Parts: sequence; C-alpha cells; structure tokens
Amino acid sequence: MNIFTSLMMRKLEGHKHGTCMCEVIALDERQIKSVFIPITGANGAEIELFLKVGDEVKVGTLIGRRKDFYVPIFSSISGKIVAKVNRYNPIVGRATSHYEIENDFLATKAEPLPTVTFNSSREQIVTAIKEAGLVGLGGAGFPTYIKYENVKGIDTLIINGVECEPFLATDFKVGELYAEDVVKGSELFRLASGASRVIIAIKVHKDPVKQALTKVLLSYPNIKLVEVPDAYPMGWERTLIKKLTGRSYDKLPSEAHVLVNNLTTAYAAARALLFGEPITHRILTISGNGIAKPANVLVPLGTPMNLIITFLGGYVSEEVTAFAGGPMSSKAVSDDSFVVQAPMGAFIVIQPVIKHEIACLRCGSCTSACPANIQPIEIKLALDGDNIARLLKLDVMRCVECGLCSYVCPSGIEVTEAVRKAKVKVRIAQAKAAFAKK
Ligand code: SF4
Ligand code: SF4
Repeated sequence: MNIFTSLMMRKLEGHKHGTCMCEVIALDERQIKSVFIPITGANGAEIELFLKVGDEVKVGTLIGRRKDFYVPIFSSISGKIVAKVNRYNPIVGRATSHYEIENDFLATKAEPLPTVTFNSSREQIVTAIKEAGLVGLGGAGFPTYIKYENVKGIDTLIINGVECEPFLATDFKVGELYAEDVVKGSELFRLASGASRVIIAIKVHKDPVKQALTKVLLSYPNIKLVEVPDAYPMGWERTLIKKLTGRSYDKLPSEAHVLVNNLTTAYAAARALLFGEPITHRILTISGNGIAKPANVLVPLGTPMNLIITFLGGYVSEEVTAFAGGPMSSKAVSDDSFVVQAPMGAFIVIQPVIKHEIACLRCGSCTSACPANIQPIEIKLALDGDNIARLLKLDVMRCVECGLCSYVCPSGIEVTEAVRKAKVKVRIAQAKAAFAKK
C-alpha cells in the first residue's frame, strides 16, 4: 500500500533567517583537546577495528569498518588514540564505545583515498562510494553505496536540498558555498545510478543557493534545479518524489525508478571521490532561542557538543529543550556530552514552552494533518489500551515520525511520542511472535 495518499503538508514558521544568513564559523581546532570517534555502528552494530589504543592517526586514517554494512570509519584529526571510553550516543540511544583521539594540533593528513573521474565505470564509482564510507548526511546515516549497488531501471536521481524542518540550514550553506562540488557530486551519483537526469530540489526563496547552483549548472545539461513549495514535510522522500515526478511507491524509491540523496551528501561525494577526502568534518546548524549565539559551525567529527555550545556562548538559561536534529522529527535529548557524527546536521535548543496538556477534544486535527494518512489519536488510544491487534489494524508502522500530530494538537498532547511508542510495541510483539514460531 502506498503512503502519502493524502499529501498533507503544513507551512511552518521556518526560523531560518538567523542561521541561513550568518557565515559558517570553523571551530578553532586548537580548542579541541580530544575527539571521540564512535566504534559502534549506528544500529549498535559491531565495528572491526584496525587500530588500537596507543596507535597514532592522521586526518583521514582508517580506524575500522562496520561489520554489518561495509562502512569504513576514519579519524577526523591527527594525534594518538589514548583510550576507549563509553559516551552517550543519541543515534544508538544509549552509551556506546568511542575511541578518544588526543589532538597533536598538527592536522597532518593521511594519504588520500583512491579517486575516480567522470569517465570511470559505474562499478568503479560505486566501489569508490563504498570505500569512502559515504553515509546519508541529511539525518538518515544510511550507507550510500547500498542504494547504488546493483540497482537497475533508475531514470531520475533527486538531490534533496529541501531542508523543510524549522531552523535547519546546513544544506543551504553547503549549496551556497560549495555549489561546484554539490553539482559534481550529483553528476557522480547520476553516473552511479545510471539515471538520465538529475533534479536538485531546494525550497522557494533560497536565492543565494539558487544563484550559486544555477551558475554551475550551465555546464551540466543533465542536471536541473527545481524549487519546491515551503511546506512540511516536503523534504520527506515520498512527498518529494510525488511532487517532482508524480510517482508513488510501496517500499523503496527504486520501485518508482528514482533514487534520492541529500545535497550535503552530494558535496561529500565530490570531495571523497574526486579529491580522496573521506568525511572528517561537517557543517552543523546550532540554533534556537535557547542558544546565546546561533550559528553554522564547521567541526571535526567526534567533537563534543558541549564544547561547541561553550564556544557559542552557552545556553540562555538552565531550562532548555534540545534536539539532536530537526525539532519536528527528532526526540529531545537530555545530555549534550555526546559527540558530532556524520549524519547529525543540527543541534536545536529552544526555551521550553509550558504546555498544559488537557483531555483530547476529538477535534480530528491530528488525523487531518497526518501525511501518512493514519489516525494518530486512535493509535494513542490503542496504545493506552495495550491493544496490539488494533495498532496493526491502524497501520501504525506507516508513521514517518514527522511530528505534525503533536504540532497541531490544541490539547497539547504528545501524540507523536505515543505513536513512536506504539511502533516500538508492535516491533517487539512481532519479534516475539517470530521467535515463538522458530
Ligand atoms: S508523526 Fe503523527 S502526523 Fe506524522 S506520520 Fe506519524 S502519526 Fe502521522
Ligand atoms: S489533535 Fe489533539 S485534541 Fe484533536 S483529536 Fe488529535 S489528540 Fe485529540
């Protein structure tokens, strides 16, 4: 069954002016005594380690590789691995192992990765994507090579620079500052996918990005720029594909002959595949009314978030709510000691809005807002009643966790959180049932 049959979308207050308009600040790396590189995969997967405590590293040294999906992990600074420590990891949702790398402040670079050209074969480009450890930098963190390996029948590649959640400005800045690399990376992805055309999608009114990309695109006839409406969740893969191609699909975009990659990932692809630089640094939007100086910062991966916050003048009060990602789709985090990882594009801090939750008014707003066309309040009631059969009937797993049901609720009910919990409950019940069958 297709989701997004209703294509419900909202115009949200973007809060982007502050971060889109300000420059990217490179964090002074002399202030970073150590970085902490997670040595556990995004889903808790084990990593095969090639280095041990005591070994020296350079910027871009291969440290290990995920055992489940083949994803190499690189050092982001030069120095020495001095310890193996446990730190909170919001991507995994618990404390996981990290290598602490002490900075030697020399920023010595490792040998570049093998590179490709626009004349390389499709297989060579996909292999280079795999060896560079490219993952989705728009938040998903999914290994990029998997999308391209053995894929057939793709006619359209979409480069998603829509960034539809409030505050986020990373793709905006990357598109504005590094338009040439974004376009080159898009062309490499096109060659890897076998598609005949690329659509780079950005939101309307992003004039600096539009101008920068338009200039470069004059030399790339297979790539065009399209502006999409300022609505949420326009950046979700399904809504974007529907909007740009009119096509729907069941499970994977490739069923609709489309692949989608994020705009910052296209930039990273150009740097890795043409210049041999793995992802060691990233731009991050730090914003919200809870931060003293909102900014876009360029930092080495593994930099502790609390160090960046101190660099930006700290929080405006002791009571703030923070999100390691967009405020609509991310869960609040209660700890800022975690470190920056490749898929993290933002840290949004807002002063808490005191919500007085009242009983459900049965107004139906959450249902009419839901882009997945399911019934969030009914799901909440089924969860409260521990009714798994009803949760399955209500198709809870179609929820894409966009956050709109909580956003529109006049009763201040955290409907999204309830739906998230319901999904976990269904997953556990299904795993138990599968185990019992064995
Ligand atoms: S978070 Fe709420 S509105 Fe969004 S898809 Fe899930 S149930 Fe629907
Ligand atoms: S939007 Fe809130 S008040 Fe209205 S039906 Fe949904 S949960 Fe109830």
